[in-house]
Amino acid sequence: MTTRGKLAAGNWKMNGQGSDLQQIETLRAALDRGEHGECGVLICPPATLLERMARLGGENLALGGQDCHAAQSGAHTGDISAPMLADAGASHVIVGHSERRGDHDEQDADIRAKAEAAHGAGLTAIVCIGETLEEREAGRTLDTLCAQLAGSLPDGASAANTVVAYEPIWAIGTGKVPQGAQIAEVHDRLRSELETRFGEDGAGIRLLYGGSVKASNAAEIFAIDNVDGALVGGASLKADDFLGIIAALA
Ligand code: PEP
Repeated sequence: MTTRGKLAAGNWKMNGQGSDLQQIETLRAALDRGEHGECGVLICPPATLLERMARLGGENLALGGQDCHAAQSGAHTGDISAPMLADAGASHVIVGHSERRGDHDEQDADIRAKAEAAHGAGLTAIVCIGETLEEREAGRTLDTLCAQLAGSLPDGASAANTVVAYEPIWAIGTGKVPQGAQIAEVHDRLRSELETRFGEDGAGIRLLYGGSVKASNAAEIFAIDNVDGALVGGASLKADDFLGIIAALA
């Protein structure tokens, strides 16, 4: 049987300034005390904070970007490449978050190219997929997710370089969470799609759930088969809130 390590990943989005480095200090101190157990812990801050957070150190805290360009360098004003993120101290990068798909019209092929760029720079890509409420209500959840998964993952995806995050768009930042059976149905199907395409490696690719995860609902969500951790937005901004989620995975 394949064993997959747990992962608690925090996405700060466009939040956080220098003063919020105190949250990182608090988090790091708790991790240094071993509060995470065997669970991996990752924070993806705005790119402006990445290097400063990396300088604070902390062997138990990984850092990631929130997006990267598919190219390594060039005339792309305002964008950041995967090698630049690696250079700033990142080991991971989120690609295909629904806010990137929505705000910047990113398509599966774009996300696949970004994931390839991440892999090329030695980063682990956290590839996000998720259905709208309209798609769920029309009974198209699994078809939508399978199409996104197939289109967004490059052929070189492996357990070592890729994590998949299932984030129903209607659950992000809304306080709404799917029923346990709905999460289980999706994660079971995604696992079988990954195994069909990537074989043994597909069994090892971690599947995170994301969407209104809090300390109070984390244990219930993490008890579901094939949920290997969480991608957390709002509740990752405060160290104590995030530590409550981490405790449920530790
Ligand atoms: C997210 O944006 O990835 C997310 C899961 O946000 P929240 O936890 O705030 O719903």
